[in-house]
Amino acid sequence: MRPDFLVFGAPLIGEEDIAEVVDTLRSGWLGTGPKVKRFEAAFKAYIGSEHAIAVNSCTAGLHLALDVLGIGPGDEVITTPITFAATANVIVHTGATPIFADIDRQTQNIDPHQVERAITSRTRAIIPVHMAGRPCDMDALMDIARRYHLSVIEDAAHATESWYKGRKIGTIGDITVFSFYVTKNICTGEGGMITTNRADWAEEMRLKSLHGISKDAWKRYSSADFQPYETEFPGYKYNMMDIQAALGIHQLARVTENLKIREHYWDIYNQELAGIPGIIRPNGLVETGSLHARHLYTLLLDTAQLSYTRHEFIQRLHERNIGTGIHFTALHLHKYYRERFNHRPGDFPDAEWVGERTVSLPLSPKLAIADLYDVVEAVRLALHT
Ligand SMILES: *Cc1c(COP(=O)(O)O)cnc(C)c1O
Repeated sequence: MRPDFLVFGAPLIGEEDIAEVVDTLRSGWLGTGPKVKRFEAAFKAYIGSEHAIAVNSCTAGLHLALDVLGIGPGDEVITTPITFAATANVIVHTGATPIFADIDRQTQNIDPHQVERAITSRTRAIIPVHMAGRPCDMDALMDIARRYHLSVIEDAAHATESWYKGRKIGTIGDITVFSFYVTKNICTGEGGMITTNRADWAEEMRLKSLHGISKDAWKRYSSADFQPYETEFPGYKYNMMDIQAALGIHQLARVTENLKIREHYWDIYNQELAGIPGIIRPNGLVETGSLHARHLYTLLLDTAQLSYTRHEFIQRLHERNIGTGIHFTALHLHKYYRERFNHRPGDFPDAEWVGERTVSLPLSPKLAIADLYDVVEAVRLALHT
């Protein structure tokens, strides 16, 4: 058994990342400044969007997106129950009502048919999540959005590298938001990025990410002609710092190289875990022109074939020093959503089916091949004891 605990989702931090952070610390400018500008420019070029606004989390970005679209009390926003709490929490923050639509079991992404069934006269927007890095059926979702005059905000927390049928994720929906949380494919500690092609929204979200004041602090204090600021909106404190952007600049530069490693590791898991009773490997196939970001390798436990629970399985992996994750238990059954919106087991059967069975194995370019074999061995032993 491996001697040390294999942390789930450990980020790969390079020497150049560290040097850039140190450079920021020595520069005396730690807040939102030149490195955030550099990171935004590089990210915009990578995605191919008109605008990119760096924020201090994906959650903050999703909130700003709903805010700029004017979504609030009385409105409904449709999203998936197989997501992190933040996706629906931000809908609640605006005063709107989150409406869940069930997933497709194969892709674990929101099912466009279920989205269309959930639309009412109050529906204003759809927030699809590109689960594990696999792009959603954007043609169907954009078609529904056009027909019902809805906005599409993509939660691309898992999908920095993803493409959908020849188009880069981040250029398709009205607004897309990425996450640079520690476990994500690009890591800035905490951080996120909003992309959009609408200049007016970009400008408003940028202002609102820093209190809604009209000149950002960097321009105010570093330019020769001092400008007093003006509060244009009651904004938020969602700006990214240069310390975070220092990491992001170099993480982004390595993202394609790291994806190759993720793809290679994914293939190793797929090979080594083939034909083992009790587990179903993730369906990682995508259509021509699409690309899966290989953010999460999620097994499904075939509980009908097992004599113990998922909890027990995870416990066994932890006893063998293998960290795991659950992405995700169905959100409509979490306490707040259950109680506030009267959700019950059976409301979204496919999300519940996945939510009860899913287990994410460690998948990070920081891992060595030997780590992967430790995971595989632990999975085999957990299943056979
Ligand atoms: C991580 C995650 C978020 C939140 O990202 P933060 O940057 O931590 O705010 C939102 N949605 C999904 C699907 C996530 O996995």
